[in-house]
Amino acid sequence: MNSKISPSPKQTYCGYIAIIGRPNVGKSTLLNHLIQQKISITSRKPQTTRHQILGIRTLKQFQMIYVDTPGLHQHTPRALNRAMNRAASRALHDVDLILFMSDGLHWTTDDEWALKKVIRAKAPALLIVNKVDKLAEKSSLLPHLNTLSQKHAFSEVIPLSAKSSEDVARLENIIATYLPEAEFIFPEDQITDRSESFLAAEIIREKLMRHLGQELPYDTAVDIEEYKIEKTSRKKLLRISAVIYVNKAGQKKIVIGEGGERLKIIGQKSRLDMEKLFGHKIFLTLWVKVKSGWADRSGILG
Ligand code: GDP
Ligand code: MG
Repeated sequence: MNSKISPSPKQTYCGYIAIIGRPNVGKSTLLNHLIQQKISITSRKPQTTRHQILGIRTLKQFQMIYVDTPGLHQHTPRALNRAMNRAASRALHDVDLILFMSDGLHWTTDDEWALKKVIRAKAPALLIVNKVDKLAEKSSLLPHLNTLSQKHAFSEVIPLSAKSSEDVARLENIIATYLPEAEFIFPEDQITDRSESFLAAEIIREKLMRHLGQELPYDTAVDIEEYKIEKTSRKKLLRISAVIYVNKAGQKKIVIGEGGERLKIIGQKSRLDMEKLFGHKIFLTLWVKVKSGWADRSGILG
């Protein structure tokens, strides 16, 4: 008899992992290194991350779905901050694992406040003490880890640097052991739930933050007006046109810079990041527009 034996289905593991902590501890940096692509923007400025972003990583039979959040912090004077806190709190529910991040030996009331939310959540939590590469006094680390581990029944306490690929690989192996048995939720090659045009706008916002620092008004917005793939005879070209919205003519001048120099650099750096992320050549045009003045518009190539 010729009985066919069907191969047993491959056992897979899949789960959601929330990355939580006060602003600036390195959540987005860690996510980018876990995914090995820059999908969440980072900067020295707190509150760089304004949107919740899923980062998806499939490795052999494991699929890890990371939820990067705007940082949790206790003072919420603005409606935007409140919305960001809500998004971060929501991310704590229905996840299989929480990565609670802190920064080196620093421990503030915002850390304490974020930790309270973690304690209230049901999922197991790993305490990640980030930026250990910056520690001058390595001997203070162990007592600090001891103090923190008494604050909550963390499943593990992991000191690391989110910028070190070895550290991140070690963390990834630990995370995999917490995933429940489940089918994959996303296709194996998908790395985020966000569209390319969303990511393109975020990249431009990151360059604006890095090149303008405190001069950048908080409500500057980036809008992608055109996003078009053009096929030339040899390769694909992506044509992206984006508008940077500012409030006043004076701010527009600052963004553009002397002789257009600043906008040119912002455009060039954005284009390079986009080419790396999307994998094709990009033709990027940036415009700066004052929100109220529809006629007040100038175009500069990046
Ligand atoms: P988030 O607000 O928690 O998402 O923090 P970001 O990921 O935006 O990082 C805030 C700042 O810390 C950025 O300037 C990062 O480059 C920096 N940073 C993040 N992780 C590390 C690390 O492991 N070592 C060092 N030296 N800097 C880091
Ligand atoms: Mg962030």
